[in-house]
Amino acid sequence: MLWSLIKIILFVVIIAALTLGAGYLLEVEGGIRVSIASTEFTLGPLAAVVALVALVVLVWVALKLLSLLVATVRFLNGDETAISRYFDRNRERKGFQALADGLMALASGEAKVAATKAARAERYLRRPELTNLISAQAAEMTGDTKKAEEVYKRLLTDERTQFVGVRGIMKQRLDAGDNDTARKLAEKAFDLKPRHEETQDILLRLQAEHGDWTGARRTLEAKRKYGRLPRDVHRRRDAVLALSEAKGVFDEDQPIEARIAAIEANRLSPDLIPAAAMAARGYIAQSQPRYATKVLKKAWDVQPHPDLAAAFAEIEPDETPEARLKRFRGLVKSRADDPESRMLMAELHIAAEDFPGARTALGDLATDQPTARSLTIMAAVERGAGAEDAVVRGWLTRALSASRGPQWVCDNCQTVASSWVPVCEACHAFDTLSWRVPSEGEMAGSTGMLPLIVGAAAPSEVAVVEPETEDAGTPDKAAEELAKDGEVLEGESTEKA
Ligand SMILES: [Zn+2]
Repeated sequence: MLWSLIKIILFVVIIAALTLGAGYLLEVEGGIRVSIASTEFTLGPLAAVVALVALVVLVWVALKLLSLLVATVRFLNGDETAISRYFDRNRERKGFQALADGLMALASGEAKVAATKAARAERYLRRPELTNLISAQAAEMTGDTKKAEEVYKRLLTDERTQFVGVRGIMKQRLDAGDNDTARKLAEKAFDLKPRHEETQDILLRLQAEHGDWTGARRTLEAKRKYGRLPRDVHRRRDAVLALSEAKGVFDEDQPIEARIAAIEANRLSPDLIPAAAMAARGYIAQSQPRYATKVLKKAWDVQPHPDLAAAFAEIEPDETPEARLKRFRGLVKSRADDPESRMLMAELHIAAEDFPGARTALGDLATDQPTARSLTIMAAVERGAGAEDAVVRGWLTRALSASRGPQWVCDNCQTVASSWVPVCEACHAFDTLSWRVPSEGEMAGSTGMLPLIVGAAAPSEVAVVEPETEDAGTPDKAAEELAKDGEVLEGESTEKA
């Protein structure tokens, strides 16, 4: 309010001053005489002031024209900055609009539109690090791998986009199945961005597949360092890698290093069965049976497993069956009710020709949780105890169709592996094998043929099957092979019974 009042007063004062000034100039005598060539002008005081103002305006316009002229000359000489600054702003606006449209097209899956917009944005903006990203994505989307690779290679040249380029080419190589090149590119990408989780995982998988255990342990360590891996998982996986390193060392006939590595793996993860078995063998070779016993006992307490029993037998290779039975009691003590412990003890009793003892050790396992192994043990017990052939054969035939019990099964793709491996042979996943009974799906194939071989007979009446009718795969032969498979200890066999 007050400010408006002041403004009005100020306006009135200025107008009054100008009027007064003009009036004064009109009254003043004399003026300015200007002579141009031979003409003479005489200007009154008011006209003189007006002429001065006009002159100032004229000079300003002349200067402006001059600078435009200079800019034009420079533009014609190749310097675009001066005159094109105005147009640049326009280009930038159009360029970013095209960029935005391109991103939108990518998000909505219109690859062709995205590619066109990216090219347009590049024409306006000349920011390849931005537009190439869209071009690469669009090319990937349309399946134009050649074009995508070309763009990725362009990305390699700029430090800011190098990682994206390496990663893009790496993925292309992976898709093409060229794992060797992919591994090298993954190493490069890992060098550029060691914290990038996806790169860590890909590199780890490729290194494990390639058998580069030392490199894989380094990658695993980076995963732990950047907090992507819980400590216990890291320990376990590191143990798996250490063990694999040890196995590799075994191949090159350097048992001492192998032993150290296996013992290290066992220390990292005492329940890793293959590590425990290998470490125990290392101790046996060093004539340290007590350490071997300790290592195996510890692993058995976590997960009873035939491989552990086999290594445990190797501690005393020449003992009598009775002495062996006694020694193994110490191993299975804490997990005496585990099926693995019971079958193992039954087998050792059979080896010692104590068939009633074997029957007691096995308990009702063959009827409660029948597996090929427990049923074969039952057949051996019955034969040893002098039962009729029909009874023995009944057990063996059931063994043929029974589950094979726990095996190394990949948690990722459910494939059954014949022995433990760090990398699944089917799906190439790392550390996914666990010792368990495969689910129904994996067993179907193995039993489907059975009615053709033994007839559709029920286990109690299988004695009618003639053993000589088939050459290969008769129930007896196959079951005997199973019996050998199920036997943990070398040298001692159920055929003795
Ligand atoms: Zn698998």
